Amino acid sequence: MKSFNPPVRTLMGPGPSDVHPRILSAMARPTIGHLDPAFVMMMDETKEALKYVFKTENELTMPISAPGSAGMETCFANLVEPGDKVVVCINGVFGMRMKENITRFGGEAIVVEDDWGSAVSTDKVEQALSENADAKILAFVHAETSTGAISDAKALCKIAHDNDCITIVDAVTSLGGSELRVDEWEIDAIYSGTQKCLSAMPGISPVSFNERALSKVKNRQTPTTSWFLDLNLVMGYWGKGAKRTYHHTAPVNTLYGLHESLVMLSDEGLENSWQRHQTNHELLRDGLEAMGISFLVDKQSRLPQLNSVFIPDGADDAKVRAALLNDYNLEIGAGLGAYAGKVWRIGLMGYSSRKENITLCLAALKQTLEK
Ligand SMILES: *Cc1c(COP(=O)(O)O)cnc(C)c1O
Repeated sequence: MKSFNPPVRTLMGPGPSDVHPRILSAMARPTIGHLDPAFVMMMDETKEALKYVFKTENELTMPISAPGSAGMETCFANLVEPGDKVVVCINGVFGMRMKENITRFGGEAIVVEDDWGSAVSTDKVEQALSENADAKILAFVHAETSTGAISDAKALCKIAHDNDCITIVDAVTSLGGSELRVDEWEIDAIYSGTQKCLSAMPGISPVSFNERALSKVKNRQTPTTSWFLDLNLVMGYWGKGAKRTYHHTAPVNTLYGLHESLVMLSDEGLENSWQRHQTNHELLRDGLEAMGISFLVDKQSRLPQLNSVFIPDGADDAKVRAALLNDYNLEIGAGLGAYAGKVWRIGLMGYSSRKENITLCLAALKQTLEK
C-alpha cells in the first residue's frame, strides 16, 4: 500500500464544502485524552460557541459525534415515542428521510407534501395540524439541499405552537449560511452538520434542544431504542457541572476542527457570514443568468448556498460534470429524484462561498459548455 494523497479539488456541490486550511491544520494537532481537563475545557467552549451560531441560550446545545444524519436521528430517537403522531413536511430528499425516522421509531407520520423546488406551504401545514389535533410534533427541513429551497421556519414554528406541537427542524445546510434564530423563532429541537456552511470537515452534528423538547425526552414512557443517541446518556458526557461519565470516545481531532471553525465564524460575525453567502449567491446568479442558465427555485424561496440550475439544452450532464472535475478540479452536484439529469446543484457553502470560486466555476462551465 501507499499513502493516500487526495487530489486538490474545489468543492461546489451540496457538501462537503471546502474546508478552511486553518481547520485542517487544527485537526493535525496532538490527540489528547477525551477526559483530559484541557479537552473538557475545549468541549465547554465549543458548546458556548454553538449557542452563538444557533442564537440560543439552550443549555442542551452540543455536537453529536457523527454526521448530520445522526443529528436527525438524535431528534427523532429521543422525541418520537411509539404511537406519536408527527406531521412531517416533504419537499425533497431530507423530508423523506425524516418520515423514515418517524416510522422506524414507532411514530405515525402525517405527510404534508410540496413540489420539489418549492418551500413548505404554511397553509397546508395549518390544515394538517387542524385535521390532526392529536399530533405532537411538526418536523420540517429549513434548507432543502436536494432542491435549493428555503422554508419559513419562523412561521412554521408559530403554527406548530398554536397547535400544541413541538418542532424538529433540519438546519444542516442553513446553519451559518442563512438567518436562523432558535430562541426567537422558538425552535424546540434542531440539528445541523459541520461540512456545509461551517467551513469544517464532515462528521459532526451540532444539536440543540430547548426545555420543552427536553421535558418530552425526560418524560418518555419507554426509553428510546437507540443506545448511542439516547440523550439521557449523552448528556452525562457533554453535560456541564456534573462529573463527566464515559459514554463514547469523542472524535478528539475532529472536534478541534469544529472548535476552529467556530473561532473563525465568531471572528467573522454570524450576520456577516449570512451576508457573505447572500452576496456571493448574487454574483454567481448574475454570471449564470448572463450565460442563459436559469434557476429551479423561485426567487423568494431561493437558498443562497445551494443553487439548482437547469442543465442547458444539448449539454450532457455526466460529461460536463466529469470535465469540470478532470480539467478544472471542480466538483458540482448532480440533480436528485425527478431532477436527476435535469439540474445541477452548485453549492456556495462555508469556505466554498468565495469570489475566486465563483470566477472559476463560471469560467470552467462556460469553456466546457462551448466545447
Ligand atoms: C447534508 C444534509 C443532511 C445529512 O448530513 P450528513 O452529514 O450527510 O449525514 C441532512 N439534511 C440536510 C438538509 C442536508 O443537507
